[in-house]
Amino acid sequence: MVQREQMSLLEFNQRFPSQKECIEHLFNLRWPNGFVCPRCNSPKYGFHSGRFLYQCKDCRYQASLTAGSVMHKTRTPLMVWFWTIFMVACDKRGHSALSISKELKISYWIAWTLLQKIRRAMAGQDRRYKLKGIVELDDAYWGDKDKVKKRGRGTTKSKVLVAVSTDAKKEHAGFVKMEVVKILNQDTVSKFVRENIEPGSKIQTDDLNIYKSLSDLGVQHEQYPIVSGEKPLPWVHIIISNAKIFCLGTYHRFGRKHLQAYLTEFCYRFNRRFWEDQLFDRLLAACTNCESTTYAELTQ
Ligand SMILES: [Zn+2]
Repeated sequence: MVQREQMSLLEFNQRFPSQKECIEHLFNLRWPNGFVCPRCNSPKYGFHSGRFLYQCKDCRYQASLTAGSVMHKTRTPLMVWFWTIFMVACDKRGHSALSISKELKISYWIAWTLLQKIRRAMAGQDRRYKLKGIVELDDAYWGDKDKVKKRGRGTTKSKVLVAVSTDAKKEHAGFVKMEVVKILNQDTVSKFVRENIEPGSKIQTDDLNIYKSLSDLGVQHEQYPIVSGEKPLPWVHIIISNAKIFCLGTYHRFGRKHLQAYLTEFCYRFNRRFWEDQLFDRLLAACTNCESTTYAELTQ
């Protein structure tokens, strides 16, 4: 596969030199066929730039440009949003709030908030898809060593369920899902499987008790004994160690409360690793996703 490169800074700047181009772009994403009043079908409208509102000239119906998006009711300029999304899309290692606040000359708190909202959009996008086919499933642990020495599933570290789809020969990984869970037991594993893996898939795990009841969920289940030296679940372990490298440093700084947000970002990037050149457009589309738009939001 020939991989095209992500836009350069210069190209990005030429594409979105001012707020006007950002508004035009969001308008085209929201109304690709132009604005027509949903109440009276009139094509005549005015625009209130301060609140990003389009108003029908015939019946005065108002529609918000940003409703249903992460940018709704934002006080941060759209250009700052676009630049932040671009920087996140460009940097494989993930951009920190500190570097974004320095590069865009915004406060650390605003940069941090923008990043959290962008990660929420990433999570929303990945929730639309479930893993299917052959899926390796395992648990992993994040954080400092336990004060009282406990090993494996008895640890007080953050517990994460990790699933990755693979081909039959285990040559390639497909897509990945990760979720922080409070406790590891059959209930939390079942919930994770129901929410993230298609019925009919073949799930492969080790032989621990927490995975025992999976075949009740309409999936095939293969359990492998944990034997040192053998690696029946190669991909899930590669993914876990890559995710740990991605989160390195950030976990210590922000603690377990935000671990899910970083894992979400890791999964979002991994799942789109063959479309890096499109990552800005995809991420912007995820951030403007209008699915959750309510009537109340549209008419505000
Ligand atoms: Zn109207």
